[in-house]
Order: sequence, then structure tokens, then C-alpha cells
Amino acid sequence: MDIQPYFHRLCELHSVAFATVDRDGHPHNRIADLFFCDGEKLYFYTARGKAFYEELMHTGETAVTGLLDDRKMIRFTGKVQKVSQRVLNHIFQENPYLKKVYPGDSRYICEVFCIYQGCGEVFDFGSKTLTRAPFTFGGAALHGSHYFITDNCRQCGLCAESCPQHCILPGSSYVILQEHCMHCGLCAESCPEEAIHLLSL
Ligand code: SF4
Ligand code: SF4
Repeated sequence: MDIQPYFHRLCELHSVAFATVDRDGHPHNRIADLFFCDGEKLYFYTARGKAFYEELMHTGETAVTGLLDDRKMIRFTGKVQKVSQRVLNHIFQENPYLKKVYPGDSRYICEVFCIYQGCGEVFDFGSKTLTRAPFTFGGAALHGSHYFITDNCRQCGLCAESCPQHCILPGSSYVILQEHCMHCGLCAESCPEEAIHLLSL
């Protein structure tokens, strides 16, 4: 899927959730500003003194989540790299309110990061049935996991009856419609044959 229109919408949303992991393996989350995208690259900044900066530098990754106003959610994990402070000046020029946060040259305690490669999903919660669409950007490979029905299926139908999304179809082996599965795992717990497994892509 073409992710660029969604990236533009995320930048219009501006404030999104960024997750990182610290050196001790503890997760952290905060709302921060996403300023602009250039093709499939997204730009944000943080100050060198912040734990957020240290965590970005340590792992080279972040995970971003944004909720759009039509009940679509975008989330992805991406690799980050620092870019020139010329980009910082551009961000301050386009967002004058920042001069109140970092007046004068104090802005140069900040570093701009580019999210240049990653993969994620767009979720649509606005329709009756949840829809999910995976995507990659910057040349990343798709990764993740999904529930899959194996050849051990004996067509008893219990999984389809239990599925809250009604997204399991009958067949010689039953089949999960991946685009509507919310990964709750109820089908796997319901299957007497243990035929449903969570598999990595
Ligand atoms: S519950 Fe298991 S055996 Fe029954 S239809 Fe579903 S996958 Fe097949
Ligand atoms: S994981 Fe949940 S939503 Fe997905 S097919 Fe199984 S029961 Fe349905």
C-alpha cells in the first residue's frame, strides 16, 4: 500500500506517541511532535539531555502510534538516524511556537531524527469489522505474526463460532481472513485439534 498519504496525515495530526526501550529493557512512551515527511521519511526532534534521546541513540529505533480522526490508527516500528541541524532550523521556521519552548540559540540542544525505514499496520476501527493493512517503507522487509490454521483442521467449526470478528471461513481447512483478524487468540484456544498457531511472517 502507498503509505505516504497516511504519513502526511500523521504529520497533520502532529502529536503522536513514540515508544522506546531503555538500556535496562524497560519500555517508555511519550507524546511528541512529528513535524514533516519527505517521501517515506518522517522527521522529529528531541533534546540531547532527554532519556528519549539516549534511548533513540542506544537502540536506533522507535515505535510510533497515531489515531486519526476517522478512527484509523497507524502504528509502526522504524529505524532512526540523526540528521543535520539545518533541518532543525527549518522546523523552527515552519513552527513559530517552538521559539517559546527553546528561545534563541537554546534550540541547538535539540537534534533532529529521521525515521527512514520500518514496517507497521493501518487499522480501520470505523467500520463494523476491524480492517488491518500491513505496510513497509524505506525498503524494509515485512515482519510480524498472524494466526494461521494448519492442515490439522478437522472442520468442526468451533473456531468460526468463537471468533468475535466473524473472520474465519469454512473449507477443507478453515481459513482466517487476515485483514479482519484482531489477533485475540480466541480461535486458537477454542480449537480441540490445536490446529491454530501464531506464526511469524
Ligand atoms: S476449531 Fe480447529 S479443527 Fe475446528 S474448524 Fe477450527 S481450526 Fe478446524
Ligand atoms: S485471533 Fe481472534 S479475531 Fe483472529 S481469527 Fe482468531 S478469534 Fe478471530
